[in-house]
Parts: sequence; C-alpha cells; structure tokens
Amino acid sequence: MSLVLQNEVSLKPFNTFGVEVRARLFAEARNDDEVRQGIALSAERGLPLLVIGGGSNLLLTGDIEALVLRMASRGIRVLADDGERVRIEAEAGEVWDELVRWSLAQGLGGLENLSLIPGTVGAAPMQNIGAYGVELKDVFDSLVALDRQNGEVREFGLADCAFAYRDSLFKREPGRWVILRVRFNLSHNAALHLDYGPVRQRLAEEGVAEPTPADVARVICAIRREKLPDPAVLGNAGSFFKNPLVPAALAERLRSEHSDLVAYPQADGQVKLAAGWLIDKAGWKGFRLGAAGVHAQQALVLVNYGGATGSEIHALAERIRADIRQRFGVELEMEPNLY
Ligand code: FAD
Ligand code: NAP
Repeated sequence: MSLVLQNEVSLKPFNTFGVEVRARLFAEARNDDEVRQGIALSAERGLPLLVIGGGSNLLLTGDIEALVLRMASRGIRVLADDGERVRIEAEAGEVWDELVRWSLAQGLGGLENLSLIPGTVGAAPMQNIGAYGVELKDVFDSLVALDRQNGEVREFGLADCAFAYRDSLFKREPGRWVILRVRFNLSHNAALHLDYGPVRQRLAEEGVAEPTPADVARVICAIRREKLPDPAVLGNAGSFFKNPLVPAALAERLRSEHSDLVAYPQADGQVKLAAGWLIDKAGWKGFRLGAAGVHAQQALVLVNYGGATGSEIHALAERIRADIRQRFGVELEMEPNLY
C-alpha cells in the first residue's frame, strides 16, 4: 500500500473546534510503512510533518504549511490473558471510545472512567488523558513509537513516559515521536473508581448496588452528555485550560477571600484549583467575542459558535488568562495543542 497524498485540504472536518484552515498536503497513514512514507515525503518536499488523530485537542490558528498525517491504523488484539489480568494492544488510529466499548464488551475493566473521551488511541498518551479520577497511566502497560530523529522504533514502559497531570514525555518533545500502538493492562475483576463527582450517587439512584465496569461507563457517559457540548453540534476541544496546581499558601489566601473556592490538596503539598471555577467566578461564563465564546454551562470549555477562526478563539483565551492572573494571581495553561 502506498500513501495517498492530497493537496490543499480543508482541515475543518479534522478538528473538533471546526476551524476552517487548509493543509498544504494531507494523507492518512494506515500502517507503520505509511507513517515512514509520510516522514520521507515531508522531507522530500521540504515541509514539516504534523501528525494528528481525531483533532479533538488542537487549536489551528492558520493554514498549516506542512504535510498533515492523520493516523488511520486500526486493530485491537489480546496479547495475554491469565484469567485475571489481560494485556491488550491497540493501533494508534483506533478511536479511543471504540476501544473503551470493545473492552467493556469483553467484560474487561480498567477503561470505564475514560469513556466518551474523543480522539484516538495514539494521542491518548500525549497528555495522559484523564477523567473521573483515572488517568491513562493507571492502565498503561507500554507503547511503541517511531523516533523521527533517526527512524528507529522504540518501546516505552511506564517509567519511560514521564506521565504527569495532562502531560508526558511525548508532549514535552513535540513532533519527535510518532506513537504507533499502545498496550494496556485490563482486568476481569478490576477495582472500580466511584469516588469522583456524582458517579456513586448516580449508581445508587439507578438502584445499582454492585456495579460492573459497564454500569460505571454508562453513568459517566450520561453525566458527560449532560455537561459537555457535543463537538458535532458546537465546536470545542473539551477543557481549554488545565486545572492549575498552586502553592498551598496561595490556595489558603484565595479560600480566605472566597469561601466557595473549589480546591483539591495534592500529595506533593500543592493544591489543584478548578480552572472552571476561577473562570466562572470572574464572570466569563457565556461571554462571546464574535463567533468564539465561553460555553454557557461549562466555563472551562471555549466554543466556536460557527465561523470563528483559531486566532479569535486564542485571543479570547488570552483575555481570560490575563484576567485570571490579575484577579487571582493564578497562571492558566492552555490544554489544546496550538498550531
Ligand atoms: P489530536 O487532537 O489529533 O492531537 C493532539 C496532539 O497529539 C497533537 O499535538 C498531535 O500532533 C499529537 N498526536 C496525535 N496522534 C499522535 C500520534 N499517534 N503520535 C504522536 N503524536 C500524536 N481529554 C482528557 O484528558 N480528558 C477528557 O475527559 C477529555 N474530554 C474531552 C471532551 C471533549 C468534548 C473534547 C472535544 C475533548 C476532550 N479531551 C479530553 C481532549 C482530547 O479528546 C484528548 O486529549 C484526546 O486524547 C486527543 O486525541 P486526538 O486523537 O483527537 O488528538
Ligand atoms: P467536575 O467534576 O465539575 O470537577 C471540576 C474539577 O475539579 C475537575 O476538573 C477535577 O479535576 C476536579 N475534581 C473534581 N472532583 C475531584 C476529586 N474528587 N478529586 C480531585 N479533583 C477533583 O469536572 P468536569 O468538568 O465535569 O469533568 C469531569 C471529569 O472529566 C474531570 O476529570 C475532567 O478532567 C474530565 N474532563 C476533561 C476534559 C478535557 O478536555 N481535558 C473535558 C471534559 C471532562 P481533574 O480534571 O483533575 O479531574
């Protein structure tokens, strides 16, 4: 098989903000060989290479003068099953939520709290995706990535990936690694994580006394559908800012000024603040700047009401950042990847 190259392709269908920009060259890589072809072609044409998955964590601020390579490799397989622990492997282009649903259909636990996160398997380690008290690192076994610096394929174990809150080695070395496939440790008898937000309460309301992973997934999907705008309806990239980790002294000062501050002490002594609370408190919820806006129900989500450019969304984000810095002395960091 050889890579099919297209010229001047609109990326609107390939980013969940629905921003209209074009890629100088575009191709879909269905296997490792096509990834290598993409790397070789970008070098031949003198263009940078931008690897994307589902485009759900991108903010595209202009036309992309690059070869945009969309990961389209598919395949999920069981590598080992000892009756208790199950090691599985998925190709980078697999849709993340399809992997979650596949695992639940096999009766396997581990991925249920990460239900309904958009995007691909290959992008999931980039920011160590997390939701409802579980992060990718909690179920991670290893991954295989291609080093664009020398063309070598390397295997990464948990300790090699430097996973942290919405962060990893791969995010800190942008453009270097192409993640080809990821392996996970799942279980036939996984311990469930129910103590986050309304999960336990929702299960109780449903009368579920002994939940299965599938029950947890169902409840989390329902909560997410209620709280988050569907990118197919309203362009967005999920949470626009990371929840800031601040020194305990700053959190204490803010608590003395705002008794309703949402803050979670961390093991390392820092305190995690809810960025959505800060933005809401500062009065940004529902704010619109042209076609860009702050979602009316969820202040952490910036949205494209239709026709907003990436630069407009970025300008709104910068105004919010400056305001939060000035009001609270807290620095917000953008979560989506800016191009
Ligand atoms: P893309 O947006 O295509 O790419 C993201 C970055 O990864 C880019 O820098 C890209 O170059 C790089 N990349 C992509 N694939 C590869 C690869 N194979 N190898 C190397 N680099 C690659 N995130 C969470 O953590 N938790 C959530 O609960 C969550 N909820 C969301 C809800 C909504 C409605 C939306 C729109 C987004 C949400 N996100 C969440 C953010 C996003 O879905 C995740 O970060 C997801 O993992 C991005 O996957 P993607 O395939 O769309 O990546
Ligand atoms: P939420 O439940 O309203 O909580 C607000 C914030 O407080 C969350 O961001 C969360 O941080 C933190 N929090 C809540 N309960 C916590 C606990 N028991 N311990 C530690 N921290 C706690 O959040 P939400 O916006 O509806 O999102 C629910 C989950 O889905 C969160 O985990 C969130 O990260 C995830 N999510 C992520 C994205 C994204 O694009 N990254 C988009 C939608 C939802 P954490 O974020 O650290 O969990």
